[in-house]
Amino acid sequence: MTERGGRHRSSPNGHAPDGPTVPTAADAVSLSPGSAAADPAPQPRRKSADTTSKLRLVWVYPDLLSTYGDRGNLLVLGRRARLRGIDVEPIEVNSDQRVPSHGDIYLLGGGEDLPQILAARRLSTDGGLAAAASRGSVVFAVCAGYQVVGHQFGGVEGEPVSGLGLLDITSGRGERRGVGELVADADPALGVPRLTGFENHQGVTTIGPGARPLARLSQGVGNGDGTEGAYSGRVLGTYMHGPALARNPGLADLLLSWATGPLPPIDPAEEEWASRLRAERLASIAQ
Ligand code: GLN
Repeated sequence: MTERGGRHRSSPNGHAPDGPTVPTAADAVSLSPGSAAADPAPQPRRKSADTTSKLRLVWVYPDLLSTYGDRGNLLVLGRRARLRGIDVEPIEVNSDQRVPSHGDIYLLGGGEDLPQILAARRLSTDGGLAAAASRGSVVFAVCAGYQVVGHQFGGVEGEPVSGLGLLDITSGRGERRGVGELVADADPALGVPRLTGFENHQGVTTIGPGARPLARLSQGVGNGDGTEGAYSGRVLGTYMHGPALARNPGLADLLLSWATGPLPPIDPAEEEWASRLRAERLASIAQ
């Protein structure tokens, strides 16, 4: 996609639109052990002023990976883009279809153990998601999807199953399921307000040197070591359902800004329901 100068000057995430070149997801894959984590503020690959094409949101394998309302992430991204005048093309790709490599943002949801293993195998054989990530497309992956974009995760009996290696994380099976509300403070470099989500997973995740934790937990299990989620370049994973982007519009705008460049603010009247949901969920754990 041709990149043109963005017309919007402010960024809700405080990201400079024209910073130095930074590693992409492809770089994250090739980062050797011990190398520095990818920069938290990647260059947008599609600028807001590009009105010649739609923002392509690819919902990957809804037939295998979509638990606890994760499809809401697709709806939230679409709505928040349209409220900025950005035209959107949602693309749903089932596991018997090819994953297009020309999308702008790819979304993966959570899933049960067996569908998760199947999804990992098919995505690996297909190659479309890896190709898109290596081109700098944004990838947002939740729970099972988060584990799948890592190097490896624990199968039904805890056996190692190969992931896609788009994010420098390795997951296994923990002793107990992490179930319930999660609250975490995002890496300050991301400029995203406190995160709220619902988690339900057995997996525990270790972050390698090529990625950074998305957040530090104040409640919940997350990765299992006091951190929650991980990111590198434009690939970001989390254990948060809820859906995550409905509860955390700041995170949705971060992903959009990675794809489009700086975004104008949304009319506060349009934010009322999201604000109420956040307030309700954050209050629920304070009691
Ligand atoms: N099967 C994975 C686990 O239990 C992911 C679960 C999910 O996506 N909710 O860790």
